[in-house]
Amino acid sequence: MNELNKISIKTIKGIGEETATLLEEMKIQSVQDLLEHFPYRYEDYELKDLADAKHDEKVTVEGKVHSVPSLTYYGKKRSRLTFRLLVGRYLVTVTCFNRPYYKSKLEIDQTVTVTGKWDQHRQTITLQELQFSPFKKNQTIEPVYSTKAALTVKAIRKFITLALNQYGSQIEDMLPLSLRNRYKLMAREDAVRTIHLPRDHSDLKQARRRFVYEEFLLFQLKMQALRKREREETAGMSQVFQSSDLVEFTNQLPFPLTNAQKRVVNEITADMKSPYRMNRLLQGDVGSGKTVVAAVALYATVLAGHQGALMVPTEILAEQHAESLSAMLEKVQVRVGLLTGSVKGKARRELLRQVQAGEIDVLVGTHALIQDEVVYKSLGLVITDEQHRFGVGQRRVLREKGESPDVLFMTATPIPRTLAITAFGEMDVSIIDEMPAGRKAIETYWVKHDMLERILQFVQKELSEGRQAYVICPLIEESEKLDVQNAIDVHSTLVQYFKGQWNVGLMHGRLTPDEKEEVMKEFSVNNVQILVSTTVVEVGVNVPNATVMVIYDAERFGLSQLHQLRGRVGRGDAQSYCILLADPKSEVGKERMNIMTETNDGFVLSERDLELRGPGDFFGRKQSGMPEFKIADMVHDYRALEVARTDATELVNSEAFWQDEQYQLMRSYLEATGVLAGEKFD
Ligand code: ADP
Ligand code: MG
Repeated sequence: MNELNKISIKTIKGIGEETATLLEEMKIQSVQDLLEHFPYRYEDYELKDLADAKHDEKVTVEGKVHSVPSLTYYGKKRSRLTFRLLVGRYLVTVTCFNRPYYKSKLEIDQTVTVTGKWDQHRQTITLQELQFSPFKKNQTIEPVYSTKAALTVKAIRKFITLALNQYGSQIEDMLPLSLRNRYKLMAREDAVRTIHLPRDHSDLKQARRRFVYEEFLLFQLKMQALRKREREETAGMSQVFQSSDLVEFTNQLPFPLTNAQKRVVNEITADMKSPYRMNRLLQGDVGSGKTVVAAVALYATVLAGHQGALMVPTEILAEQHAESLSAMLEKVQVRVGLLTGSVKGKARRELLRQVQAGEIDVLVGTHALIQDEVVYKSLGLVITDEQHRFGVGQRRVLREKGESPDVLFMTATPIPRTLAITAFGEMDVSIIDEMPAGRKAIETYWVKHDMLERILQFVQKELSEGRQAYVICPLIEESEKLDVQNAIDVHSTLVQYFKGQWNVGLMHGRLTPDEKEEVMKEFSVNNVQILVSTTVVEVGVNVPNATVMVIYDAERFGLSQLHQLRGRVGRGDAQSYCILLADPKSEVGKERMNIMTETNDGFVLSERDLELRGPGDFFGRKQSGMPEFKIADMVHDYRALEVARTDATELVNSEAFWQDEQYQLMRSYLEATGVLAGEKFD
């Protein structure tokens, strides 16, 4: 920013040592810190016309006392005082609790200002504040600040006013006039003054609008500068292949690509052809057909004379992917290999030799794929399935091996666009937002837990038709131990219930990886018909014969997570069902269950989830790398976020931005954050 961040608050007339110490405890040290200690809410004393007031809303009105107040005591200390007040053409009742002394002060026909909660049905205001004078026009919206023990909100207000008087005119504006004019944004000085001392609501709204844009733009500038730097510093490869060969490949698939698949294939192959290193996130709901897209991209890199690697989180998935990729790619003479922990000894050595010699074109496997022992002849493309399991660390491993392949991250967790461009701002994002035609929608039902018996009968019926079922156990926040216990309990109940008829398997986080693989295998070959599991089953397993998903305590899961679980069924031709067992207490909880029954669209769900739970909860406790904005709200201000992103991208890639005087302050800001110098930021 400018110099105000270097000037101590002690230079403000009225702030002495003692106050400064208190403010410093709140991390307010410089004048800038103080000026940017924004109110977290406002007390609204704007005069209200009762005709416009909503029920239960807080109102401030001016009126004339119309009746002698009557006072009732309950017990010694508690009392109620009521009187009639004439407000314009309304005659309303004012009730005040535990303030008996007002009785002697109120006189008939006296003009007073009353603030309180408006009960529209009873035409009554429950008093919060009373002023024995007509309503005063100035300062109708009072800022409320967060504060610490010894400092009152009033004191903070005073210090900020002092700071504004003394230093307000020195507030610099990072946003150049050109941008401010484009969106009719207030100058920063005006906006700071307004946010602390708003004249009215529309004024406040304008100030807020300016800060929302500023916060988003600065954040996106960092992201885009980082992205540009990464592009320029990591030499990518321009992969050369004929698009017509890819078209020929897709034409011989058993189905035509959806339009969404075609679009993302184009986005991905354009990246591969470009001299930059691809860093792209591919989002597509469960079943939207990401594997085919991966196959096309892998084929492209092979056509360009390189090798491709597909990395997945578990061995079972690796086997499944290797199988489906071979089925597609072997027709075009692409050799697919599978590398997992189970490939050992001589077989492993031979596989590694083939990879090094370039006799294998596409290698599928777990993390082992990018470890030291694996040497590629020429690695052109790395695809990872389930993006959050492939971190910065692994990307570094690749770079250190001297490989600079294009990288594509695939995820089936639909992330609302607003979050995607914030959390993954330095990546490009492709979205498959269309399902292949003719998919049977999974039927979802929400039932109370006391219907369990009926549900088990239904499971029984499906099983006797040769199908299989998942049962997901109650989730106990913070306690893996209790999760496991729940799973064990449910498992033994079901073993008892289906004794002599069906095999019930058990899966939870305490099993070793080998045990998990074993259970999954038994389920996938139908030796086990019912799989009881904690949420560990979530990650992309494919058992097309499973048609029923029962989820205990469904209200405890996020909508996106429920959707992921639901996506385990509906993978074959048969009609599938998802049953949510839930007794939600809150209205929001009920609404969430209803939404689940109404839509199968993961993006719709993720947007609703975001609205209902907020961005903090969205990624769960572990992944809270989301930026914190002082004023902007990613959900409500998403339009501004999109605009800021576009502007930031344009700016960072323009010459003017790096040269013109008008962008000097923004450039210094970027320098100060370190993204230009090569630091990564969170
Ligand atoms: P996911 O995105 O969950 O990884 P998959 O790639 O596993 O989805 O595809 C799910 C199923 O849909 C597979 O059986 C696949 O063959 C089929 N599929 C993919 N694309 C299409 C399409 N365009 N038309 C019809 N079926 C398709
Ligand atoms: Mg998949």
